[in-house]
Amino acid sequence: MNATGREVDVDDRTALLREVAERAIEYLDGVDARPVGRPIEVARLRSGLGSPLPDAGMDSATVLRDLGAAAEPGLVASAGPRYFGFVIGGSLPAALAADWLTSAWDQNAAMYVVSPAAAVVEDIVAGWLVDLFGLPTGTSIGLTTGATMANFTALAAARHALLQRDDWDVERQGLFGAPEIPVVVGDEAHVTIHVALQMLGLGRERVHKVQADEQGRMRPDALREVLSGLDRPAIVCAQAGNVNTGGFDPLGPIADAVMANGGWLHVDGAFGLWAAASAALRGHLVGLEDADSWTTDAHKWLNVPYDCGIVAVRDAAAHHAAMTLGAAYYVETAGAERDPYNWVAESSRRARGFTVYAALRTLGRSGLAELIERCSAMARRFAERLAAEPGVRILNDVVLNQVLVRFESGGGDAAADDELTRNVVAAVQRDGTCWMGGTTWHGKAAMRISVSNWSTTDDDVYASVEAILRCAAEVGGLPAATATR
Ligand SMILES: *Cc1c(COP(=O)(O)O)cnc(C)c1O
Repeated sequence: MNATGREVDVDDRTALLREVAERAIEYLDGVDARPVGRPIEVARLRSGLGSPLPDAGMDSATVLRDLGAAAEPGLVASAGPRYFGFVIGGSLPAALAADWLTSAWDQNAAMYVVSPAAAVVEDIVAGWLVDLFGLPTGTSIGLTTGATMANFTALAAARHALLQRDDWDVERQGLFGAPEIPVVVGDEAHVTIHVALQMLGLGRERVHKVQADEQGRMRPDALREVLSGLDRPAIVCAQAGNVNTGGFDPLGPIADAVMANGGWLHVDGAFGLWAAASAALRGHLVGLEDADSWTTDAHKWLNVPYDCGIVAVRDAAAHHAAMTLGAAYYVETAGAERDPYNWVAESSRRARGFTVYAALRTLGRSGLAELIERCSAMARRFAERLAAEPGVRILNDVVLNQVLVRFESGGGDAAADDELTRNVVAAVQRDGTCWMGGTTWHGKAAMRISVSNWSTTDDDVYASVEAILRCAAEVGGLPAATATR
């Protein structure tokens, strides 16, 4: 197919899509065997992919082949089973397949009228999510690009609701001259909470911070003290699933304190909210349903392809008021139809409901619970296996899917152990068996392991532990692994 041709050659399109599908399948079939993160020079990638934009177009199949070949060395095997960096899930086969369909269908999931199917699927998925997380009936849902925009949306709804009580219409009047809204965040709030505040005119730095405990959980006594110093209802941002420890803020006492203050409680559960789907883990979330808004990501632990975040708001009217395009182009019909764009900061948008639908429908309630529990069990296995080795210390209580590992040479020299730990992380990344990132926890360097991928197995955990111990022995002179499995 000529890129500039007006006539679509259907045979060429078919051949192109089949070829690319084959190549994608080949990639996924091989993702287990390839080095997980392969160091690559940026200059090499640039020279393989870049040149001044040519004037003449080019054959589609050649463009796609060239793109595949030149991009391949710069791909990170985060879709595979031994990527444990940040908090990054893979893609369930059904979710990936639904994503392919989503692209082929090319629906604009802005309004019911431009894609009835996308609007209805999103509506159905919204009901499933409210039910799964055990949120109050009537809670509204938006499917965003990610947790950052979910936090943004939830905090916009909070801003609306608190100012409306003072008869201030923030959507019309803006923030200049408005009554002040105090914002309270935990010491360990995710950076994207601050980014959401920065975008909403609430200020990244005018927040009141609440001390966290040794697992990074907000301390309710410290929250009560902060709130007692305020003369107005506040927006309080709590967290379910600390990005380092996986720890949960104690939502029960936090919700009580926020209720007494008359404020709005937001819970960022970008990955931790999925624990609500498991009877075994739900205990970490006692009080969850007493919050006012919630954030999570489907592209993390639900294992759908990028991008898909989820925002949930108890006060649907506040959510709608904060996000709606209003009468700008009002084509809503009888009222039974839901226009997805009223619940997110987007107009034209990807039909994200299809992948979430496919993931939840294939897993079912029990499959989702099993996925979350299995990943958490593998995180514990990582911790137990590593902790059994001399010179390896686990820094967190492994309550979910996150593990913090530190390497210590035994001399009690913190700076030397920081360096050793960073060197082990770098060696593991070079080794390619698995990929873990580095972090700093309470001033100490650590390796962070996140088990979030549906395809990870016990064998992947064992192979990764062996690689970590091998690298630690090489770079640190730590004793080599004393045992396997
Ligand atoms: C990942 C994460 C975010 C940001 O999510 P994005 O999908 O990257 O926007 C926010 N909060 C927490 C706790 C996270 O783990």
